[in-house]
Amino acid sequence: MSIPAADFGLLGGSSTLSIELPEEMNYDFVEVLENGLVFPTPYGESPEFKYLSLLGEDGIKRSVLSCRMHGWRSGVNRADASRQVFYVFKEAGVKRILAEGGVGAINHLLKPRDIVVPYDYIDVSMRKDVSLSDRYLLVMRDALCSEMRQAVVEVLQGIWQSGRVFDRGVYVNTDGRHFESPAEINTFKMSGADVVGQSLCPEVYLAREIEACYAGLYLVVNYAEGIVSPWQHEELEDIFYGESRAVAAVMLQVLRNLPVKQECGCPELRKDTLLSKVY
Ligand SMILES: [Zn+2]
Repeated sequence: MSIPAADFGLLGGSSTLSIELPEEMNYDFVEVLENGLVFPTPYGESPEFKYLSLLGEDGIKRSVLSCRMHGWRSGVNRADASRQVFYVFKEAGVKRILAEGGVGAINHLLKPRDIVVPYDYIDVSMRKDVSLSDRYLLVMRDALCSEMRQAVVEVLQGIWQSGRVFDRGVYVNTDGRHFESPAEINTFKMSGADVVGQSLCPEVYLAREIEACYAGLYLVVNYAEGIVSPWQHEELEDIFYGESRAVAAVMLQVLRNLPVKQECGCPELRKDTLLSKVY
């Protein structure tokens, strides 16, 4: 099967890893049209995608390509995994991408099971090869789509019972897979970061490159090292398994509410490069 046209991209992370999304939700407004889709890309075979049809609250159907755990899998580096996913989104004509992930709390005000919808980020990853081409100058002002963030926050405020909802915050992106040291976390705290995670970059750059909006909701699963109290493996496990259905419900409802048409200005933040290729 060639890459089908899709309005939205859905990037599942650690919070929805333990369930089959959307099948286990048993909703009548979403249908799985195709499962296990793998596409060839210039960066290697893509991860598996599902192709969904989702009936919006406005009565209009949206088509969605979704994949698990940001496309990460063993044997594929994360830069390539992200490029495979976003190559597929580009070819599908995806306009809006919603992601979720687990994060550690750096800001002392946060607690496990709170959700943060970041409006900015700091990338301290050393990852290379995080673009699909060198054609564009990507302006990273308003990198997280304001219209999508608002839609996410509205849904969270209506149905998220497990913790509090924060409609802004700064996400610092590290390489992983290991967690960070206490001294690293202290450095990020002084830089103004509220949460730490490993998935927002390079997705946010790749979304801008393909003229798609991007936003995410990030569940606090532990305190970062040296913050408040040492994190507990059992609590992390409880959150991963216990909150997955609630996070999935939020994701699907956001896609039901969200218009496909971009009135946010995100596409205008991709410019043609001014660098010629004479060198
Ligand atoms: Zn946007």
